[in-house]
Amino acid sequence: MSDCIFCKIVDGKIPSAKVYEDDEILAFKDISPARPVHVLVIPKRHITSLATVTPEDAPFLGRMLTVANQIATEQGSPDGFRVIINTGRVGQQEVPHLHIHIVGGPDPVGPMLKRI
Ligand code: 5GP
Ligand code: ZN
Repeated sequence: MSDCIFCKIVDGKIPSAKVYEDDEILAFKDISPARPVHVLVIPKRHITSLATVTPEDAPFLGRMLTVANQIATEQGSPDGFRVIINTGRVGQQEVPHLHIHIVGGPDPVGPMLKRI
C-alpha cells in the first residue's frame, strides 16, 4: 500500500528504530512512547487490521505473539508487559496497518480501561 505509513517503514522510506526483523515481521519503537518500553510489531505485508485477518493467518498471528514476548523481554520488560491491538473505528486504530503494541518497562503499566 503506497500511502501506508507502516508499509513505508517496511520499505525503508520512513526511518524507524528497529528492534527486530525477520522475513515476515518487523518491530520498531513507537515514535511517541506511552511507557519506557513501547514497541510496535507489524507484518511486513500490508494487513489492514485484526478485523481483516482470515483463518489462514492464524499461524502467522501466533508467531507475531511469540515474537512480541521475545522482544518485550529483550527491551526491558522481563517481568511482564501488555499487548494491545487497536482495531478499527471503535478500537480507535490510528494507523490502518495491523500492529501489536507492546507496552511495559520496570513498573506496572496501569489499569486497563475505565470500567463502565
Ligand atoms: P494505533 O492508534 O493505530 O493503535 O497506534 C499507532 C501508533 O503508531 C501510535 O502509538 C503512534 O505513536 C505510532 N506511530 C505513528 N506514526 C509513526 C511513525 O512514523 N513511526 C513510529 N515509530 N511510530 C509511529
Ligand atoms: Zn501498510
